[in-house]
Amino acid sequence: MTNEAVALTGWGLTMPTRAAVSSISSAAELAPLLAGVGNRGVIARGAGRSYGDAAQNGGGLVVTLDAINDVEVLDDGDVVAGAGALLADVIAPLLARGRFLPVTPGTRFVTVGGAIAADVHGKNHHVDGSFGQHLRWLDLVVASGQTQRIGPDGSPDDVALFHATVGGMGLTGIIVRACFGSVESPTDQMNVDTYRCADLDSLMSQMVEREAGHRYSVAWLDGMARGGKLGRGVLTVANHALTNQTPTNHALSGGTRPTESQLAMRFAAPRINVPPVPVSPLNRVTLAAFNEGYYRAAPRVRTGQQVGLGSYFYPLDLVGGWNRLYGSRGFVQYQFAVPDSGAAVIRQALERLSSIGAPSFLSVLKRFGAGNSAAPLSFPIAGWTLAIDVPARLDDLGPILDELDDAVLVAGGRLYLAKDSRATPAVIAAGYPRLDEFRSIRQGIDPAGIFTSDLARRLAL
Ligand SMILES: Cc1cc2nc3c(=O)[nH]c(=O)nc-3n(C[C@H](O)[C@H](O)[C@H](O)COP(=O)(O)OP(=O)(O)OC[C@H]3O[C@@H](n4cnc5c(N)ncnc54)[C@H](O)[C@@H]3O)c2cc1C
Repeated sequence: MTNEAVALTGWGLTMPTRAAVSSISSAAELAPLLAGVGNRGVIARGAGRSYGDAAQNGGGLVVTLDAINDVEVLDDGDVVAGAGALLADVIAPLLARGRFLPVTPGTRFVTVGGAIAADVHGKNHHVDGSFGQHLRWLDLVVASGQTQRIGPDGSPDDVALFHATVGGMGLTGIIVRACFGSVESPTDQMNVDTYRCADLDSLMSQMVEREAGHRYSVAWLDGMARGGKLGRGVLTVANHALTNQTPTNHALSGGTRPTESQLAMRFAAPRINVPPVPVSPLNRVTLAAFNEGYYRAAPRVRTGQQVGLGSYFYPLDLVGGWNRLYGSRGFVQYQFAVPDSGAAVIRQALERLSSIGAPSFLSVLKRFGAGNSAAPLSFPIAGWTLAIDVPARLDDLGPILDELDDAVLVAGGRLYLAKDSRATPAVIAAGYPRLDEFRSIRQGIDPAGIFTSDLARRLAL
């Protein structure tokens, strides 16, 4: 176990208060740590890929589990992994057996613990749901220091604790190990269909039409387009390519298959890294040019293109530290979900952000299937989700986002805790009607409230 005191910073949020950080290598080290926790409490931190203050605890203790990173793929394709393992470390052993992660976010550099605590979603939510829905069990170290193995079956209290931990942002305890399922991926290729859509209506209707028959679906929106072009974008829908659809050297079974270490090399850390930049090169002019170029480069319609798994799932991971492109003042990511009946909020968000000239190069629209109804704080609800990056320095950004919060709530939607750095307790409580249920489970397992974070204090979770 190692200890240090550092000021932890998130992606766009700087906390001036220092936290003590303990890196543990076994669950047994947690009991004495938890017994000595002060009044600012303790929170687990994964890879720090959430955008706000979820894994920060100014003035308190932060526990990292990087050393608990073992990965084992069982004969039936289930994975048993330490909570500190990165999804990147799980991919190669899975692919070597012709399988892939059941759900993956847009970066593979998140931990198993972080994926559970945020109940992350991927491009396949409309088919496969969220990460927590593929869990068989997890080991949770609770406030007493004891480890509890909990899952979707068991005593009512254990099952309730399991579901509160999925999407519970680390506030029920520290996950040290988990077992989850996987999906078939007979090759290392994806069959991708691309549709360039000239406006928001055509993009959204194409998304609804094309999701049937495709496991994965996502749209990039030109966040700089205005007027009749507002919401234009590029939709891709995809499935894992089958062995009879690819050249033999892409098959993950048979004599020509790549070895696990060759696969691991493909999913290792990015080769290009952005250094800190004092002045952000991202402004209205450069982003308008980037977005125009990206949009024009996409084919109007292209079906059956084969793309490597890594390029399809993780284009952003090619460039390490891409967030630095926003300069020292950082950026805000705003992500909300609304039911189909609230689809108009997507247009409203794009219009309102364009009214203040908010330059965005990453606006992503996805479809959600039915939510993880057992988990009170899980984010996805059936319908739409939009994620937009905007520079934090923009004047008027705060009031516009407040206005959008109201629109999201009126539409029956909610904000994503893993991406939040600015919401209020009232906005979160209104978006998560089962927050009180979560609070009472948390109170039962941790009456002194030792598990807490800057996010939990800011939002009164
Ligand atoms: C480029 C990029 C793309 C992304 N795309 C998506 C996406 O498509 N879908 C999506 O859902 N999310 C997405 N995210 C968000 C990301 O998946 C989540 O924020 C995830 O929780 C980050 O995991 P982490 O390991 O970095 O955890 P951290 O950011 O370190 O922590 C996140 C939360 O998990 C808790 N936690 C971490 N480890 C443990 C543990 N061992 N025990 C208990 N609690 C723990 C922390 O306390 C905190 O509340 C993206 C993020 C980035 C940077």
